[in-house]
Amino acid sequence: MIVVNSVQTLRRLIQTHRDMGHRIGFVPTMGNLHAGHLSLVKTAKQHADIVVVSIFVNPTQFGPNEDFDSYPRTFEQDQALLEQEGADIIFAPEVAEVYPNWPNLTRVQVAELGNNHCGASRPGHFDGVTTVVSKLFNMVRPDCAVFGQKDFQQLAIIRRMTSDLNFDIDIIGAPIVREANGLAMSSRNGYLSTEQKEHASFIYQTLSWMKQQIENGERDYRALEQAAKQRLTEQNFKPDYVHVARQDNLEMAQDGDQQLVLLIAAFMGKVRLIDNMTLEI
Ligand code: AMP
Repeated sequence: MIVVNSVQTLRRLIQTHRDMGHRIGFVPTMGNLHAGHLSLVKTAKQHADIVVVSIFVNPTQFGPNEDFDSYPRTFEQDQALLEQEGADIIFAPEVAEVYPNWPNLTRVQVAELGNNHCGASRPGHFDGVTTVVSKLFNMVRPDCAVFGQKDFQQLAIIRRMTSDLNFDIDIIGAPIVREANGLAMSSRNGYLSTEQKEHASFIYQTLSWMKQQIENGERDYRALEQAAKQRLTEQNFKPDYVHVARQDNLEMAQDGDQQLVLLIAAFMGKVRLIDNMTLEI
């Protein structure tokens, strides 16, 4: 496994693989890797000959009061995990390598899909994501790229961006990896104590409860959202949003919609956790 910090070296290295006819798979991450990230690497290996993993804590996707400075940076541990998993190249650039004209940026903005859910609570977040992912796509020029369904809205936005900007890249969505208690794995779980992690699985339980209610015939989705919020509040979470949405365009679901996604964002203390669950009716 090779670690590369500069775009120029990365390009040269990848070109040698392309010349050999290798298919390039790409997994973008912000590091502090866990089993969720490693599942993306496994998936990438099934679809490509060479797997490139980027580790870059992207400043443009953090709001002014968010955790960019304190975001866990664990490069050596990440490197060991990726070596074990059989990744081929780690691309770990500095901020100045990715954004040479910082803070003046050309930005990529996807219309509409980023306006609601997390986009409404984190203004500018998805523009930061699409800006960095499009830059990384141009640096790596992969044949396929793998993203987690854990970030359901992000995956939808990246699919739209890839199509709208004619990137010739297959976007692959990988299932959510959870702890034994159901809590979706996340780098931000590292901010939680052991007891808090146990308690945080209530978000997953709430999603499962909502799914059950819909399967039992509940079709008043706005009332269901309110009831789920109330349950979260009673358990000392501060819900940011609880939404029943359509999988295809992420608009709020109405009775008659068939492919649904249940989306929750909730604070536990200062830590903002997100999770989701899909269902077909
Ligand atoms: P991050 O490092 O948090 O930016 O995440 C990098 C990639 O890993 C994104 O595509 C995430 O959706 C994905 N990811 C994060 N957590 C999980 C998880 N628990 N299961 C599956 N994929 C995940």
